[in-house]
Amino acid sequence: IRESNPLKTINDEIFVYVTKKQKEIDELKKLELFRREFLADVSHEFKTPIFAAQGFIHTLLDGAMDDEKVRERFLRKAANNLDSLDVLVKDLLVLSQMETGDIKMNIIPTDLRKLTLGIFSRLEHIAKNRNVSLKVKPDDMPEVWIKADADRMEQVMLNLIENAIKYGHDNGKVIVHFSESKKYIEVEVKDNGPGIPHEHLNRIFERFYRIDKSRSKEIGGTGLGLAIVKHILNAHDTKIAVMSKPEKGTTFSFKLEKAYHQQLPEAKTDDVV
Ligand code: ADP
Repeated sequence: IRESNPLKTINDEIFVYVTKKQKEIDELKKLELFRREFLADVSHEFKTPIFAAQGFIHTLLDGAMDDEKVRERFLRKAANNLDSLDVLVKDLLVLSQMETGDIKMNIIPTDLRKLTLGIFSRLEHIAKNRNVSLKVKPDDMPEVWIKADADRMEQVMLNLIENAIKYGHDNGKVIVHFSESKKYIEVEVKDNGPGIPHEHLNRIFERFYRIDKSRSKEIGGTGLGLAIVKHILNAHDTKIAVMSKPEKGTTFSFKLEKAYHQQLPEAKTDDVV
């Protein structure tokens, strides 16, 4: 029998301890970097609309107020910038609550088909402006009951459908497609827009990540929509996937547990965008 070497045992223990502590330090450093980057991003995002609104208001105070047309135009622009700021603050609040786990999930049977149709009517005006058609498939389907927090799921569907309209083509199509397996409902939100270049695909879920910053801002994006979607779905123990082909379109998909056992009608062949 080989005698154990006490010195070696102590050395091994010290090694394990130091490695563990080093890991903890690395983790803390990463968190600190994340915090600093986040603050820098947030300040930057706040600065843009504040600076713009300030500019319009000061120009008015400096004399532009006398011209009625300029007055109306500048006030409108100042108001639009303050509206963007409001959306940004609300999105940030949701995101930070999701990240710190402060939101209590209220998981109940939720009819995702009805919820989707409600979102379609909320977004009807922007879809009409761009002549985009909105469809749920299969169209002869009854209800689609899943286990979810209905308010949070509404936010997920709203962000995905709104993005599909905003970043799709004029005269395009947006389809929300449901299919089922034994335990799950698979949800797909598809558009036939310009698609997302491959190199951006796994970064679009990061907060403030936008492919085309100026276009996203122009159409009212905060850059937080998909980060919020990812967090909400994580809280439902599921993950979002994205598939995109240049000029063919983009499909976001995820699955959720069924609330009841039910059979959906078979999808038809024209369900593909
Ligand atoms: P935003 O508020 O800018 O829309 P999101 O987090 O919702 O932020 O989306 C991040 C970026 O991903 C968008 O700025 C856009 O460039 C891209 N994107 C999202 N959805 C689509 C889509 N359906 N088609 C093409 N690009 C998309």
